[in-house]
Amino acid sequence: MKFGGTSVGDGIRIRHVAELAKKYRDEGNEIALVTSALSGVTDALLKNAKDASETGKTSGVKEFIADLTKQHHKAVKDAIGNSGIEEKVTHHLDQRIEELEKALIGICYLGELTPRSIDYISSYGERLAAPIIAGSFNSLGVNSCSFTGGEAGIITTDEYGNAKPLEGSYSLVKERIEPLLNECIPVICGFIAQNEAGIITTLGRGGSDFTASIVGAAIKANEIWLWKEVDGIMTTDPNIVPEARPIPVISYIEAMELSYFGAKVLHPRAIEPAIRHGIPVRVKNTFHPEVPGTIVVKDQKLSADIVKAVTVIKNVALFNISGAGMVGTIGVAARVFTTLANAGVNIVMISQGSSEANISLVVDASHLDKAVKAIKAEFKNGIIKEITPDRNISVVAVVGAGMANTPGVAGRVFGALGKAKVNVIMISQGSSQHNISFAVSGDGAKKAVSVLHKEFGLDQAK
Ligand code: ADP
Ligand code: ASP
Ligand code: MG
Repeated sequence: MKFGGTSVGDGIRIRHVAELAKKYRDEGNEIALVTSALSGVTDALLKNAKDASETGKTSGVKEFIADLTKQHHKAVKDAIGNSGIEEKVTHHLDQRIEELEKALIGICYLGELTPRSIDYISSYGERLAAPIIAGSFNSLGVNSCSFTGGEAGIITTDEYGNAKPLEGSYSLVKERIEPLLNECIPVICGFIAQNEAGIITTLGRGGSDFTASIVGAAIKANEIWLWKEVDGIMTTDPNIVPEARPIPVISYIEAMELSYFGAKVLHPRAIEPAIRHGIPVRVKNTFHPEVPGTIVVKDQKLSADIVKAVTVIKNVALFNISGAGMVGTIGVAARVFTTLANAGVNIVMISQGSSEANISLVVDASHLDKAVKAIKAEFKNGIIKEITPDRNISVVAVVGAGMANTPGVAGRVFGALGKAKVNVIMISQGSSQHNISFAVSGDGAKKAVSVLHKEFGLDQAK
């Protein structure tokens, strides 16, 4: 079971989480628990690290540390309610916070923030949360102790900020965590891991879903449960369309497409480890545990729903490369992609018309400048005449395995958008036919999502 940031947002919520997990354990289940940081803490850590490196002001660090200490001390009191245990946990947290303060002050003096130090600083969110949850279990009479991701056995590559687990992690986690399950509930920090040299790494924002799936696969769990503040994976982001409904059953492939195409509900790689052993993944609401939620499974019998969900990626930018010289010149696309890969640009979407006179690309908005610069440098003379960037873009996708071999879906998508006067800038459909994605201007995205959600009847009870 993994609990997200909102689920463990404060001490009262942590208490609720401990009681909830205890209930399932009392019913005869063995549980390993993965936790996020208290909501907002990872963002605050990142912001303060950045401020420290840019302003060098140690007074800002002191203020932040005082707030963070207060927040976590209060959580300890509300979650535990047993003075002996509270004292032990508080002592442990104070040691961690002292280390963090030293690191932030070091960053003030150095005036630099490396990817490695960003991972180190941001690891403290989970490292402060996990001992409180273990303490809350202890106060309920349940044996429990906490582990960092590295202590649990998750060893990764050195790609700070987006590290990948090494194969050996699965046997290591099994060796370290499985034997504990019949005597206690181990509480494992989500999101953080370590590399082979023992240096802290992170699995990317929202990475505690990924941790849960790695641990679940390692111990061959019967199910992996991700507890959040929504009733499951919904037909679209409920913040954009209030009529969004939970999807009862969805396949691994559909869930992966959904998260790749921006549905913030799942970390994009969270399903991969579960697939190894075909472990079902459930998404449930911590605050409404009686609601069944969503179950993500290997194969789903073809359902009547052609389209399961609509997603949106914000903060992307589009640029168009054109020039008559591109026609018939072999290797232009290869050069474009190699250049962008070397510049570290993440490409979200690609489209090339058969006239070959232009290639359109959608990239992360923060990568646009380096992308344009790299392409200009690579094609200094000739072939490419024009590069037109457009910053205010969103990518919308309709996702559903039922679209494969169902004619007319694209017609319905673009017909509905046309009727609603949403201007489509670029279109892409992979040959897997599990999604159709398209770029619209940033202002058109909300309308596009609402229109398609309605067009495919996703707002209707089934
Ligand atoms: P966690 O607490 O586990 O970190 P998240 O915050 O990552 O959970 O995911 C839940 C949030 O994702 C919701 O608050 C919701 O706004 C957003 N969201 C976006 N798209 C979807 C979707 N299709 N289904 C459910 N939630 C979505
Ligand atoms: N705390 C981390 C984040 O905010 C990981 C997570 O919540 O899943 O990104
Ligand atoms: Mg998340």
